[in-house]
Amino acid sequence: MSITPAFLKLDLYCKGIRIAPDCFPEDHHGRPITRTRAGLGSGLELVLPGDLWTNVPVVEDFAKVSPYELVREDERFFVTHPHHSKVEVRLSPRPDWYETKTSSGKRMDRVGTLQGTYLGVYPSAVCEYWTESPKVNCKFCSVGLNLGDKDAGEKTVEDIMEVIHAAREGSGITYVDFNTGHYEGDTYLDILEPILKRVKSETDLLIGVQTPPHHDLSWYDRLQEMGVNRVSFCFEIFDPRTFEEVCPGKHREYGLKRYLDAVEYCVGLT
Ligand code: SF4
Repeated sequence: MSITPAFLKLDLYCKGIRIAPDCFPEDHHGRPITRTRAGLGSGLELVLPGDLWTNVPVVEDFAKVSPYELVREDERFFVTHPHHSKVEVRLSPRPDWYETKTSSGKRMDRVGTLQGTYLGVYPSAVCEYWTESPKVNCKFCSVGLNLGDKDAGEKTVEDIMEVIHAAREGSGITYVDFNTGHYEGDTYLDILEPILKRVKSETDLLIGVQTPPHHDLSWYDRLQEMGVNRVSFCFEIFDPRTFEEVCPGKHREYGLKRYLDAVEYCVGLT
């Protein structure tokens, strides 16, 4: 039986994939697999038929028993499944700039990484829900397991701008996405502001911002004035009791209602 690329993309998100020993992307000019990078996608970066760029879970427990496997015939890659026809795929190419260093000596792929065809940047220190004792991080999140290890930790505006220019020139990105966790005093948008202004003044890139919902909603008018093209609020869960249980930090600092109010406020911006 054959399956459509769209179905395959969704099913790979749900089930993940196993990788045959001779298929690791690092050995074939693919993008290295990270457990989590920048709070955004992790896993295997693949291009499915129909030019569908995607990111497939590989390190999670459920992926280890996935019916899908990435296999290789010479330099051609296929996704196999016991009940479906095999599907030829490509590894998303690893850009040369990944291993280049910024002027301050940070590897560029520790500052930002490609997620499909866009650049994802987690510009600041680890989300403070991870540094409290006891931790109050969201239960599905692994940002705190990665930052400081595979991520550069503190990044200057200059570091980030150098990587954005490199990604634009080397990979042809048209969109950059900034993602932060929670910081005491709602400082995440203050941290982003100088970067957003630089991106808009130096490039024609579209910008996305995902942070907690700032207590001063007029910030979203200002983001719009700065030229930010998209904002999102990762509340994850509609059910209030499950939200409280799975996202204890978000529940304490903001509450589900604040997330929904921020969404509503931004929808009303013209
Ligand atoms: S807010 Fe939750 S999901 Fe976002 S970085 Fe912090 S712990 Fe992770």
